[in-house]
Amino acid sequence: MISIIIPAFNEGDGIRPLHQRLTDCAAAWNEDYEVILVDDGSDDDTYAVAAEIAWSDPRFKVVSLARNFGHQPAVTAGLEHARGDLVAILDADLQDPPEELHRFFRKCREGYDIVYAVRTRRKEGLLKRACYKVYYRLLASLADIRIPLDAGDFCVMNRRAVDALNALPERSRFIRGLRSWVGLRQTGLAYERQARAAGTPKYTFRKLLQLGLDGICNFSAKPLRLILLAGVALGVFSLAAALVVLVQYAADWTIWGYNPRDQKGWTSLMLAVLFLSSAQLFCLGIIGEYVGRLFDEVKGRPVYLVGRTVNLNARPRRRRKRRGATRRLTPSAAQDYTDGV
Ligand code: UDP
Ligand code: MG
Repeated sequence: MISIIIPAFNEGDGIRPLHQRLTDCAAAWNEDYEVILVDDGSDDDTYAVAAEIAWSDPRFKVVSLARNFGHQPAVTAGLEHARGDLVAILDADLQDPPEELHRFFRKCREGYDIVYAVRTRRKEGLLKRACYKVYYRLLASLADIRIPLDAGDFCVMNRRAVDALNALPERSRFIRGLRSWVGLRQTGLAYERQARAAGTPKYTFRKLLQLGLDGICNFSAKPLRLILLAGVALGVFSLAAALVVLVQYAADWTIWGYNPRDQKGWTSLMLAVLFLSSAQLFCLGIIGEYVGRLFDEVKGRPVYLVGRTVNLNARPRRRRKRRGATRRLTPSAAQDYTDGV
C-alpha cells in the first residue's frame, strides 16, 4: 500500500483541488493507497473540508493535531500514522505536483529506500530563491553528514526508511536532515517546484528562521568549533597587540602617530571594546541556540498531540522505547487524548 502524507495549516481553499488531483493520479498507479492529511491546528475550515472529503472517501484520512505544532511535527505525525510500505510526503499547496509521484514510486520499487525530490526551479520571489540557495549550501558545508542540495521534504520512502526515521528519539525534527542521517540507499529525482495553487505561504519568516537554525544546529557542531577558533585567534591577536603597546610604552615609541603615553587612543579603545563585546554576545547567542535545543530535548515533551481523527482506527506504530530514558508520551499514549469524531 502507498501512504501519502500531507501536512496542512490553514489550507482550506486548497484541500478539494488537492484531493481531486491526487484521486486522478492514483487511478494510474494501480495500487492501494491512503492519504493522511495532518491538520496542523488550522483555524480556518481545513479540518471541516478534510473531514467532509473523508466521510465520502475512506482512503482519505485526517489526523488533526491539538494545536499548531509546526510543519515538521505535522510530517512526523503523518509518518507515525502511515501504514503503507511506500510513504510519500507532499505539501498541501500543490507546489509538489502529485503527477510526479509515479516516477518516485518506480525508483523506490527499483530498490532505493529513499527517493528525494531535488528542486531544479522554483516559482517564488527572487529574494526567497536566493535565500534558499545560500542556505542549502551553507547547511551542506557545515553539516557533519552529507545533506543533498535543494532537497526539501518532498520524497518517497519505503517502510524500512520510515521505521528508521520513526525510531529516532529526538524531538526537534528536521526531517530532510534526519532522512539523510539514516542513510540506506538514497537517490534524488529532479522536479520543477510549482507556484502555490491557493492561499498564501504558511511559513512565516520566524518559522523559516527556526527551521533553518534547527537544520544547522541539529546537524553540525561546527559553529561551536568556529567560536573556539575565533576565540583563540582573537586571543593571540590581543596578546600580540598588548605586547606591542607595552613595549611602546616602556620605550616611549610612537607608531603610526600613536604613543601610549599621550592621552590619545580613546577611540581605538572604544572600538576594540565594542567589537569584542559584540563578538562575545554573538558567540553566546550561538551557544544559546544549542543550550535551548538541549533544554527542549531534556524536557522530553511529545513532538505533537492528536486532537481528533477521521477514518483512522488503527493506532500509530509505536516508537522503540529508549532504555533508561524518561518515559515519553508516545503517539499511542497521545492517542488517548483523541476525542474521535
Ligand atoms: N505547514 C504546516 N504547519 C505550519 C506551516 C506550514 O503544516 O505551521 C504546511 C503548509 O500547510 C504546507 C507545507 O507545510 O502544506 C509547506 O508550507 P508552505 O507552503 O507555507 O512553505 P513553503 O512552500 O513556502 O516553503
Ligand atoms: Mg508551499
